[in-house]
Amino acid sequence: MRALEHHGDLGAVAGIAFHDRHGPRATQPAPVIRDLDAYRVGWELIDHARYSYWGGLRAVVVQFSRGCPHLCNYCGQRGFWTRWRHRDPVRFEGAGAGASRAA
Ligand code: SF4
Repeated sequence: MRALEHHGDLGAVAGIAFHDRHGPRATQPAPVIRDLDAYRVGWELIDHARYSYWGGLRAVVVQFSRGCPHLCNYCGQRGFWTRWRHRDPVRFEGAGAGASRAA
């Protein structure tokens, strides 16, 4: 966002793709977040009233982990973040409590 705002060099921003006068370009991969627990879930940023689940119920789907080391040929996720990382299960449960308070 800073590069866009200040007309900086988008080619220096890791992990993005963009189009310029030379055509489409992709930059080098961005580093992954190694410690998912270092970041809290921003439940307060979700306007829960705008989301519903089957049957008109309110629900939130959360991701506990990132990445997969396998390469199943039918999967659209294969090869993404090839190292599996996960949140601490106990802390994750506490974050779920935060979701119910924010809803
Ligand atoms: S289906 Fe996809 S996410 Fe599941 S194990 Fe295979 S590559 Fe990984």
